[in-house]
Amino acid sequence: MGTGLEDIRMPNEEQEGPKRALIVSAHPDDSEFGAAGTAHLWTRDGWEFYYLICSDGSKGTDDPEMTAEKLVPLRREEQRAAARVVGGKEVFFLDHVDGELTYTRDLMRDVVRHIRRLKPYAVFTHDPNQIVRNMFINHPDHRCAGEVAIDAVYPIARNRPSFPELLDEGLEPHSVKEVYLWTASDVNFEVDISDVLETKVEALRQHRSQFADFEEMSQRVRNFWREPDGRYLERFRRLVLPF
Ligand SMILES: [Zn+2]
Repeated sequence: MGTGLEDIRMPNEEQEGPKRALIVSAHPDDSEFGAAGTAHLWTRDGWEFYYLICSDGSKGTDDPEMTAEKLVPLRREEQRAAARVVGGKEVFFLDHVDGELTYTRDLMRDVVRHIRRLKPYAVFTHDPNQIVRNMFINHPDHRCAGEVAIDAVYPIARNRPSFPELLDEGLEPHSVKEVYLWTASDVNFEVDISDVLETKVEALRQHRSQFADFEEMSQRVRNFWREPDGRYLERFRRLVLPF
């Protein structure tokens, strides 16, 4: 660890299995707000980060000239670029309709398929527990993606009889060991991202279709991530699964 990183808590170095994490998010750009700093710290430490984006991002525009046909591939490229900035390995897209994400068997199977195929040690996702928070309404797609991801981790991905069609694809059960929820109500894990703040901002900047005035927006979020002592933090609810 380089200077300044000593106080950052990482998963146990003695863990079994590869240093691999899967981010499950509703939309392109969600994970940059939630976890790009942590993802970059971990990739610098040798972790592989994969991304699973549940919706197609087709509703992320106010431009009457913009069409889903143009926006969806654009946002895919933006998400891939953001992942490259933090050192992520690969991005997968499920292409459910933005704004209409629904807890269905199909969505669950698709998330479980990626967990069983990639076998991540840790999964990062939205905290689905809140409908409203402070002055914000939590996007229903965020709640859905978080809920499906958590249920996929436990019990579905580890449960052999679930989704026999995945066994037919050769995908054996897999037990994720840790879960990190962003926008969490019960924060119990803070990561000091001060050293990599500019990387997080640069990752966010890749979502160019989403920000009319990126400088103004980035200033706002910098303030949001900043502690009174000058450090910048990402905050999570961390679950270490007991078995
Ligand atoms: Zn979102």
